[in-house]
Amino acid sequence: MADSTTLSNTEVEAQYDEYLPPIWKQLHVPVKHASGATIEDFDGNEYLDAFSGISVTNVGHTNDAVVDAAKDQLEDVIHGCSYVHPNAPVGDLAERLATETPGDLQKTFFCNSGTEAVEGAIKLARKYTGNTEILALEMGFHGRTLGSLALTGNSAYKNGMAPTLNDVVHAEPPYTYRCLSCGDEGCTADCADHIERVIGTQTADDLAAIVVEPVMGEGGIIVPPEGWLKRVQEIAHAHDAVLIVDEVQTGYGRTGEFWAIDHFDVVPDVLTQAKGIANGLPLGAFTARSEIADAFGSGDHLSTFGGNPVACAAALATIDELHNGAIENARTQGEWLAAELAELEAAFDVVGQARGLGLMQGLELVDPTAEGPRGVAPAPDSKLATNVSDRLRENGIIVGVGGYYSNVLRLQPPLTIDRAQLERIVSAIREALNAEVD
Ligand code: PLP
Repeated sequence: MADSTTLSNTEVEAQYDEYLPPIWKQLHVPVKHASGATIEDFDGNEYLDAFSGISVTNVGHTNDAVVDAAKDQLEDVIHGCSYVHPNAPVGDLAERLATETPGDLQKTFFCNSGTEAVEGAIKLARKYTGNTEILALEMGFHGRTLGSLALTGNSAYKNGMAPTLNDVVHAEPPYTYRCLSCGDEGCTADCADHIERVIGTQTADDLAAIVVEPVMGEGGIIVPPEGWLKRVQEIAHAHDAVLIVDEVQTGYGRTGEFWAIDHFDVVPDVLTQAKGIANGLPLGAFTARSEIADAFGSGDHLSTFGGNPVACAAALATIDELHNGAIENARTQGEWLAAELAELEAAFDVVGQARGLGLMQGLELVDPTAEGPRGVAPAPDSKLATNVSDRLRENGIIVGVGGYYSNVLRLQPPLTIDRAQLERIVSAIREALNAEVD
């Protein structure tokens, strides 16, 4: 095995080239060590991390409390690492989640990732309702296994892998900037009516679930208009289907509340979680109302490693840290960051829209002189987004680039980030935009 203390970036990249499929090239810098909001690569360069491994290390890289909790659990020979025997961390975390989730979301099933949480949730919806059809949104992202990929509303991800799951339909997302259901008229809660139209025209009204993200992450940080999520829930229930809200990316304080649903006053029937849940250890979960969760009988769904006690112990420590200032910081720093990004939108024509909640913020970059998709101007500018991100990385700052049109700069730093670090990020973005539009 290579000695990680003496490796260089080039050597790590060579290993990746030789032994991993090329998909990994999309990712950012080779990480030797990370702490708080900083990352160090193998050549000794330091970066400010404004992406947190896509909203994973919410309470900071190598958070002491989380690391200690995981280490202690790992050394606990009584509880070991086996999910199939009842043990304290799993029970404690399930109980904790019943109090952290609103309303009567009471019972949690643990798994290893967001994709698995979504897979489990749609199986549960089918079992509970006895129906089969599932409605999700264009531009939505729910994972890459065949079931979750079927829900994911981006055909580019399915290239060469179809057919996925049968009986899945897609409706327009609540994309207020370039609203796809009402053109450039602006988007309101009424845009949820498109879901009704899809059910009426493309389904046999045998709907098991509507699955949505409360704020779309991979789609490009898309915040729905006031009242939209409530309306989606009404539609689901009117068709005897369950509402599954996918909080894999938005949960665990990311939006300045513990859950994004807390902004919208909606209690879904099933809530999927992963990413930030254990601050980097592999864990996923879905929490449901008891009546729904109990539809899974013995053997209906199980995972050997799902909810392993080490990850659950890390999750309990993560939740404590979130309540110990991280969520509050996400709220206050998020407000400041949103105001700064709004200034960039006002100052630069190429910033089509700045949008987000808490420390989940995005800058949609556009070519103001060209027409966009479906004739709605301006055009998304993915090249500009990549160029700005490259300039930022050269300046020691890591941001995400994504969105349905690959033209959104994504700012999703650890929730513990401080004002000085955010100021550095914003001024570097301003500098990079200036250099690009010059
Ligand atoms: N759901 C949402 C909303 C996501 O953003 C993601 C990942 O980005 C997933 C599901 C899949 O999660 P994972 O990568 O842990 O399988």
